[in-house]
Amino acid sequence: MSYTIKPLMLGKMKMNKSMMTYMMNFEKEIWIPIVSWYVKVNDKHLLVDTGAPPDMMRRYWYNDYEELISFEDALESVGATPETVDVVIHTHLHFDHCGNTPKCKNAEVFVQEEELSFSRNPHPLFLGSYLRGNIMEDVNFKAVEGDAELFPGIQVFKVPGHSPGTQAVSFLTSAGNAVLSGFCSIKDNFSPPEKMKKVWPVLTPGVHIDSFQAFAGAMRVKDLADVVIPTHDMDSATKPQIP
Ligand SMILES: [Zn+2]
Repeated sequence: MSYTIKPLMLGKMKMNKSMMTYMMNFEKEIWIPIVSWYVKVNDKHLLVDTGAPPDMMRRYWYNDYEELISFEDALESVGATPETVDVVIHTHLHFDHCGNTPKCKNAEVFVQEEELSFSRNPHPLFLGSYLRGNIMEDVNFKAVEGDAELFPGIQVFKVPGHSPGTQAVSFLTSAGNAVLSGFCSIKDNFSPPEKMKKVWPVLTPGVHIDSFQAFAGAMRVKDLADVVIPTHDMDSATKPQIP
């Protein structure tokens, strides 16, 4: 089997670039895409992450957010609706990755056990990153512990550090293993400036609970991937499909 990933770019948020690249780029502002990644698996509709609706983005995000297309319209473009989504795989449960998940009422929703439990009682430092209230109450979560093959050719790899239970998602494609990084990152995380490469072959995500783990996670993704897809990379997000 060989999969194709279709990025559904729902919108973009403005932030300081150092939130993506630890200890670098403090002076730079960038726009990063909010994406739900669509994959057809036999007759099933699968999403990696679901983005978030604009009202939620504006409630949780202190900076600018611009919607490009609604979740519903984006799904229609691939022949699905929120109700016909069969599977959601969550890289992690920060609000910008799971805000539309409650609309997928018939989906099995895979997430690392550690991420799920942390999201229900986050550390005060990360309280603003997780959805509050009972929004996720009826989501049909399937907790995963560690690395697993969820479907033939579709694997999750636990890469904690950005959050306690971040997972990368790997798809077998015609170009080899295409791996969604899981942790919030951009292209720079996997191609550091030339002068730094020997010491830092990857850049640690700027947002993390443990910088050493986050660095190791980025190294692991780089190792596993024939094609790396950083979850907030504008070039990947604006491609019609990968590969
Ligand atoms: Zn993110």
